[in-house]
Amino acid sequence: MTNTSNATNEKAGVHVEVVVIGGGPGGYTAAFRAADLGSKVLLIESAARLGGVCLNAGCIPSKALLHTAKVITEAAELPGVRFGKPVIDLDALRKWKDGIVSRLTKGLAGLAKARKVTVMQGLARFASAHMLEVETPDGLKRVSFERAIIAAGSSVARIPGFPYSDPRLIDSTGALAIEDIPGRLLVVGGGVIGLEMATVYHALGSRVTVVEMTGQLIPGADPDIVKPLAGKLARRYEAVLLNTRVAGLESLPEGVRATFAGDGAPPPQVFDRVLVAAGRRPNGALLDVEKAGITPTARGFIEVDRQMRTSAPHIFAIGDITGEPMLAHKATHQGKVAAETIAGHAVSFAARTIPSVAYTDPEIAWMGLTETEAKRQGIDCETATFPWAASGRALAIGAEDGGSKLILDKRSRRILGAGIVGAGAGELIAEAVLALEMDAEAGDLALAIHPHPTLSETLAFAAELAEGSITDLFVPRKS
Ligand code: NAD
Repeated sequence: MTNTSNATNEKAGVHVEVVVIGGGPGGYTAAFRAADLGSKVLLIESAARLGGVCLNAGCIPSKALLHTAKVITEAAELPGVRFGKPVIDLDALRKWKDGIVSRLTKGLAGLAKARKVTVMQGLARFASAHMLEVETPDGLKRVSFERAIIAAGSSVARIPGFPYSDPRLIDSTGALAIEDIPGRLLVVGGGVIGLEMATVYHALGSRVTVVEMTGQLIPGADPDIVKPLAGKLARRYEAVLLNTRVAGLESLPEGVRATFAGDGAPPPQVFDRVLVAAGRRPNGALLDVEKAGITPTARGFIEVDRQMRTSAPHIFAIGDITGEPMLAHKATHQGKVAAETIAGHAVSFAARTIPSVAYTDPEIAWMGLTETEAKRQGIDCETATFPWAASGRALAIGAEDGGSKLILDKRSRRILGAGIVGAGAGELIAEAVLALEMDAEAGDLALAIHPHPTLSETLAFAAELAEGSITDLFVPRKS
C-alpha cells in the first residue's frame, strides 16, 4: 500500500490495488483469495470485528442456540428416559454462544494478518469511480483503488408503522442476544429466521405464535416437504397463523398488543416480545455507487455479470447485494470468482443450484428445482419421495416423520431438484447438490452404495423408488 495518487489523479490518503467493502463471508473470502493470488488488499468493515451478519449475528450464533434447543427437545422426547425440567442459565448460554463467535472472528483476524490483508474499520462510500470515503473511528479517510469488490450485504427489512422504539420489538440480532425468555413470543414472518428463532425460544420455554402472510411456512420449499414441520409446529406452538398479517402493534405497559388481519386472524392479543423476521433488504442504496457510475435497482440490488462485474468494469459486487438468494454460501463462491477474475483467471459464477436450509426441527433443505417450480416452468418431471418411516435409522432416532424427495426429468432421468425434511436435512442435501452439478441420473444415486443404516440411504431409496428397484417399500406394479 502506498500514499500515491491513482490512475485518475485523485489525491488519496491510501492507495490500494484491491479494496473489498464488507467483511462478511463474501467479503473476507474475496479479500483472502485476492491476497493469495498476489494483490495488495484492503478490507473495509464497518463493525469492530470481521465476519459480518452471518458470523456475528446470524448463521453461527443461531446454530449454537439451535443445538441447545435440539438437546432440550430430544431429551424431553427420549423414550424410556425421564430427565428433570431443564434449568436454563441464560448468562452461561449467552457466554458460550458469544465465545464461539469470538473464537471465529479472532480466527478471521489471524487469517487476514497471515495474508497481509489490511483491515480498516469504517463505513465506506464511493466518492468517485476510483475513490472511497471511509468514516472511521479516527475520522474520515480517503482510499483510492484500482479494483473494488462490493460485499456490503443486506439489512433487516422493517414493516412500516411498527413501534420500533419499544425494546420489546426485536429483530434477529435482538433475538440472538437472548436478553430474557419471554412468556409469550409473537414471531412475524414464517420464513427461515422466524422459524429458527421460534425453535430456540420454544425450547427455552416461551409460548410461541407465528404469523405468516402467505399460505405456507417457508414459502420457497415444496408444500409436501414443509408439511411434517408445519404439523409439528401446530402441535408445539400456541398458534401458527397462515394467510395472516400483523395489522398493528401497540406498546402497552403490560406488553405489546398485536392486531391481526387476514383469513386466520384471531382477536387482538398481548405479547411479551415480538420478533420481526419479514425478510432482508440489500444495502446497495447506501454506498453512493452512483458516484462510481453504477445504478442500483429499485430494490437496492447491484446488478452483475457472471464474473461478478458491475456496470463499472473495475468494480465487482458479490453476495446479498447482488440479489436473491441472500445466503452466505452463495457469497463465498461469488467472492472467489470476483477475486480470481481480478487476477486474470477465466472463471465465472455458474452454479447450477444454491441449496437452501431451514435449521428447524425437523430441518428442511432443498436444492435445484422444486416440484412447484418445475411444474410452473412446464417441465415434464416426475417425483419420488421416500418416507423416513421406512428407514430403520430414522425410526431409531425418532425421525420417522421425515422424507427425501427427488424431482427428475421424466425422459432423461436427470436429477432436477431435491427436497428433504428431517434430522440433518441440511447435511444430506449436499449429496443431491453434487448429483445435480455432475448431471447425475436417478440410477447413479440408486447404484452408489450408501452406508447402512444411515439417513443418507433415504436419498438413494428415493432414487430406487424412481427407478422401480426399491425393496425397502412395496410398490404394487402398474398393470
Ligand atoms: P424470509 O424471506 O425467509 O422469510 C420472511 C417471511 O416473512 C416470508 O415467509 C414472508 O412471506 C413473511 N412476511 C413478510 N412480511 C410479512 C408480514 N407483514 N406479516 C407476516 N409475514 C410476513 O426472510 P427471513 O426469514 O427474515 O430471512 C432473511 C434472509 O436471511 C433470507 O434471505 C434468508 O435466506 C437469510 N437467512 C437464511 C438462513 C438459512 O439459510 N438457514 C437463516 C436465516 C436467514
